[in-house]
Amino acid sequence: MLFGRAKKNQIKIPTHDIVKWKYTTCGYCSTGCSIEVGLNKEGQAVTGRGVGGADVNRGKLCIKGIFEHELFHSAGRGTVPLMRDKTHEPYQQTSWDMAMDKTASEIKRIQGTYGRDSFAIISTGQILTEEFYTLGKLVRGCIGTNNYDGNTTLCMASAASGYKRSFGSDGPPGCYDDFEHTDCLIAFGSNLPEQHPVIYWRMREAREKRRFPLIVVDPRVTMLAQFADMHLPITPGTDVVLLNALAHVILDEGLEDRAYIDAHCSGADAFEKLVAEYDPVTASKICGIDVDTIRNVARLYAKSNTAMSIWTMGINQSTHGSDGVVGINSLNLLTGNIGKPGGTSLSITGQCNAMGTREWSSCSGLPGYRALEKEQDREDIAKFWGIDPEFFPKKRGLFKTDIFPAIETGQIKGLWIIGTNPMTSMPNTARIRKTLERLEFCVVQDAYRDVETTEYANVFFPAGLWAEKNGVMTNTERRVNLMSKVIDPPAEAKADLWIFNQMAKRFENGQKIKFPETAPEVFDEMRELSKGRFLDISGMSYEKIEQQRGIQWPMKDGDDTGSPRVYSDGRFNYPDGKAKLIPLPFINDNEVPDSGFPFWLNSGRVVEHFHTRTRTGKIGNQNKFSPTPYMEMNPDSGKELGIEHMSYARLVSRRGDAVVLVQLTQRVPRNMVFVPFHFHECVNRVSLGLLDPHSRQPAFKQCAVRVEAIEQQEAAAVVNRAARTF
Ligand code: SF4
Repeated sequence: MLFGRAKKNQIKIPTHDIVKWKYTTCGYCSTGCSIEVGLNKEGQAVTGRGVGGADVNRGKLCIKGIFEHELFHSAGRGTVPLMRDKTHEPYQQTSWDMAMDKTASEIKRIQGTYGRDSFAIISTGQILTEEFYTLGKLVRGCIGTNNYDGNTTLCMASAASGYKRSFGSDGPPGCYDDFEHTDCLIAFGSNLPEQHPVIYWRMREAREKRRFPLIVVDPRVTMLAQFADMHLPITPGTDVVLLNALAHVILDEGLEDRAYIDAHCSGADAFEKLVAEYDPVTASKICGIDVDTIRNVARLYAKSNTAMSIWTMGINQSTHGSDGVVGINSLNLLTGNIGKPGGTSLSITGQCNAMGTREWSSCSGLPGYRALEKEQDREDIAKFWGIDPEFFPKKRGLFKTDIFPAIETGQIKGLWIIGTNPMTSMPNTARIRKTLERLEFCVVQDAYRDVETTEYANVFFPAGLWAEKNGVMTNTERRVNLMSKVIDPPAEAKADLWIFNQMAKRFENGQKIKFPETAPEVFDEMRELSKGRFLDISGMSYEKIEQQRGIQWPMKDGDDTGSPRVYSDGRFNYPDGKAKLIPLPFINDNEVPDSGFPFWLNSGRVVEHFHTRTRTGKIGNQNKFSPTPYMEMNPDSGKELGIEHMSYARLVSRRGDAVVLVQLTQRVPRNMVFVPFHFHECVNRVSLGLLDPHSRQPAFKQCAVRVEAIEQQEAAAVVNRAARTF
């Protein structure tokens, strides 16, 4: 018997005559699910299914993966290169040669007039690792601008920064299998069931077998918090205070793993001195978690045989994002929970190949976790590519979030935007719009012509998406998996690898450096460059990756398989081999609610959509379940302001306003509202996005707003206008 919504609105999985299944990997989130796409006898992709033998998803997919094959025929695809002189003129169809020549000549003109770094490049977490490596080669080796970054600065920069500060290198130490071995799990700002549904399923399955305690730290009663044993509704932006207090209790009660600290950590004295100031009574007044709960959680975590922490944007998207990550790492170092089954500090990454860009794109340095700041690294890569090492800058340039202010101040005059959509994803939309209008030249490279940012470009490069290309991606647990081409890109759209290779030919160093044409050849270069390094992939091949349904690095030449964990020997990537315990003084630097703007604004994801809906906004079943921007508001606050459930209201901040549909729910406290971030002309019209000092990641989750009742007919007109802009 069927009940409720299931009776009326069941999702229909297509059933067709499939003649062939092709192996590939999901191109949305970082879980890294293996998918088989079903092709009919005309060669059309008509359905998809999870791969049973894949360790990551074991046959499961979430709603995004189930309908991913529909992307191949989705609306709004870019099919031909486009060009125009001025951004208010209509685009004209052009040839690839014309579009490339124009872009190369504008890059050279701008660099020649204003200096090499006056042209900036912003990329994505969505293209394939071979494409990231090739883009890095083009930017670092040929174009030579130092203002080059990825949109991963909006989601995972704090995790990368925190790992580097604690362990001497980026690279998550643990894996999903740790759920099977842990005795205690804390999830900081991570709503797994909606963000990473298949990781949630792995965790839940492990918890059903061995009922370990789940503690969720989140200001909102998220879906994960509803399933938790303990929910800690923390005051936004105060994670560092809670983490210092947990460390205080552990040290005060002698619960730390002193042998592990002595053998494998440096900086313990300064760390212990700082956390001594964060007794639970003092901390509870700042972070809003009561004293007994702080003590109980600290004891539970430290006394468990194995304990693990996971986190997502609730930690990363903060002015203390990098510190929050360091604090979580320190909690695990203090208790000896790094690199052992069930004991880890595991960032749950955002985009499907956010790890690939961190490893190989050269955004923050040079390929294979090499640094521009290290002379040996510059020399090694210059020799491998066959260019002068002096061509490389000696330290990294601007982050994505600093590139836009540099456009405002006139330092940067030209921009190449690859697979990202700042008009929807960046905080303070009005400011971003004005910034893009200041550019002398802008080129957008995307699979979709109707991405909002395309309206501010002079040239549009139509790119292939997802399984229209070959290559690999790395998931949250360092697993490299294979993206096999299922069908060709539409019309004249091209794989990003082809676009980068063609552009390289138009630069002087592009004649000296070898740019292989196929993904397997590029992968061979990466394997060679990885030999003996932390992220060694020299033992991998496409065949082995497909056979094993993904392999976790490191896997050295001659190894049969990869490594589920790193740092298991207690040896870290600082020269002394030790991890750092870093003291974290808390500085309260957020915009906080006041009498004029009395609510915290929190933002996050819904399960149906991904990022700025450039893809999921085109899929019928995903829109059916999540069609419109909405705001969660506490019923008591709604009553006070005369705002009813399922009516429209106006959200106002010091930056701007947005009209949203109100859902009254106890999920948020009285002084908070929550809005999904996926929708254009919505939450980022009001967000502030102060930056973390280490990672330069914006604090999307903490700013102050007020809510106003609004005349419903006026609201409907505003919402319809915004919908038409998409
Ligand atoms: Fe794709 Fe992530 Fe869903 Fe898996 S959980 S199917 S990787 S979106």
